[in-house]
Amino acid sequence: MARSRILVVGAGFAGLYAAIGLKRAARNGHRVTVVNPENFMQYQPFLPEVASGTIDPRAVVVPLRTTLRHCEIVVGTVNRIDQAERHAVATLADGSERELGYDVIVIAPGSTSRVLPIPGLAENGVGFKTVQEAIHLRNHVLSRLDVAAASDDEDRRRAALTFVFVGGGYAGVEALGELEDLVRDAMRTYPSLAPWHPRWILVDVAPKILPELGDDLASYAQDRLVERGVEIAVNTRLESYLDGTVVLSDGSSFKADTLVWTAGVRPSPLAKASGLPVDDAGRILTDDYLRVRGVDDAWAAGDAAAVPDRTTGALSPPTAQYGMRQGHRLARNVAAALERRELEPFEHRNIGAVCSLGHYKGVAQIWGVKVKGFPAWFAHRSYHLYAMPTLTRRAKIAADWTVALLFPRDLAQLGSLERPREPFERAAKV
Ligand SMILES: Cc1cc2nc3c(=O)[nH]c(=O)nc-3n(C[C@H](O)[C@H](O)[C@H](O)COP(=O)(O)OP(=O)(O)OC[C@H]3O[C@@H](n4cnc5c(N)ncnc54)[C@H](O)[C@@H]3O)c2cc1C
Repeated sequence: MARSRILVVGAGFAGLYAAIGLKRAARNGHRVTVVNPENFMQYQPFLPEVASGTIDPRAVVVPLRTTLRHCEIVVGTVNRIDQAERHAVATLADGSERELGYDVIVIAPGSTSRVLPIPGLAENGVGFKTVQEAIHLRNHVLSRLDVAAASDDEDRRRAALTFVFVGGGYAGVEALGELEDLVRDAMRTYPSLAPWHPRWILVDVAPKILPELGDDLASYAQDRLVERGVEIAVNTRLESYLDGTVVLSDGSSFKADTLVWTAGVRPSPLAKASGLPVDDAGRILTDDYLRVRGVDDAWAAGDAAAVPDRTTGALSPPTAQYGMRQGHRLARNVAAALERRELEPFEHRNIGAVCSLGHYKGVAQIWGVKVKGFPAWFAHRSYHLYAMPTLTRRAKIAADWTVALLFPRDLAQLGSLERPREPFERAAKV
């Protein structure tokens, strides 16, 4: 059998599981190369808990070099794919470019935040898609409490203690729920802020938050958040966020130091730039077997791919649940194609959705059964712990949760880590 060079672009849910599944192909002499901008995969469903500090950031990232020992790892970003010539070009961390030839390509670069052209949003808002953003948000939110505590200007305090989330899907609701818990706990250590109530506002252009969960669970989640003092502004758009002022389409405008944008994702721009067939949303079109439609030796999966869902007749939703299973099936089909065996279609019946609303609170729909409160929160934790790749990461997360149960929250904010050279530069000036 001829030896093939297999190139996997992106090591998220789909790419990581595809690369893991290609282990046998690697043992049979095929060369598997994985290109990813970081040397780790990040488990995005745990980002809200990273932001609230219940899980250490390093526990939610999976190091590629130890997990994918059978692969060559290239840390870089693929920006060109030439399918006719069978080569891709990656920009490496030092800015140089590397050409990567291949016989078979697997494209799984996921999605990016869907940032709309709203005045001030790109400059002043923050997304919630990466571990960097989750760490930044934790530090930023805690730093606002310090700013508020140190200021005797009422308007300044109010702006520091106002937190706006735009986008009432899972990511926005979970991030808000976890951070509201964090701030509630942290406020106890700021006696000067005792008379103050932080303001939390969840904005969504749709008539309901969490529409995927159905009316009953969505209303339950909304009511629980309102009970905690969260203001929910549905049927409302963000108009602008300039000079620290949030302007909403309902006519309200107020100062806020924090605006988190969680209003959806769009497929990685690489999908369209690859020259491969894409749908209207810019996702690479695949057949039932995860092969790029009408293209030899190219495969795609995850958020950047339009993969038919045979159980519903629609397209697979952009979720980790589907991405990891697509990666798994894709690897088997690539191996089967190399060995000229029969391919099997991708088929997965949606398990449902679990959504945490913060500590001990949640909503879930599992196999059509609605679950609320503590059982839903527990289901959320158990499912994601089970789905987290590698035993080491699962053990670390379980240990973090145990510590969080037994000891008070760690409230140190390490925002200065984002400016590591500052102390040295100051010292040099003396
Ligand atoms: C906060 C949050 C919570 C979530 N919770 C859930 C949940 O509870 N359940 C669920 O099912 N889903 C959840 N999701 C969605 C889920 O994380 C995504 O659907 C899933 O990550 C998609 O997998 P993917 O492999 O397509 O992309 P990703 O996991 O995003 O991986 C793509 C990888 O490709 C890399 N990449 C991008 N461009 C390039 C390039 N040009 N060259 C090389 N590499 C590239 C990226 O850096 C990344 O490592 C959540 C998402 C977020 C943000």
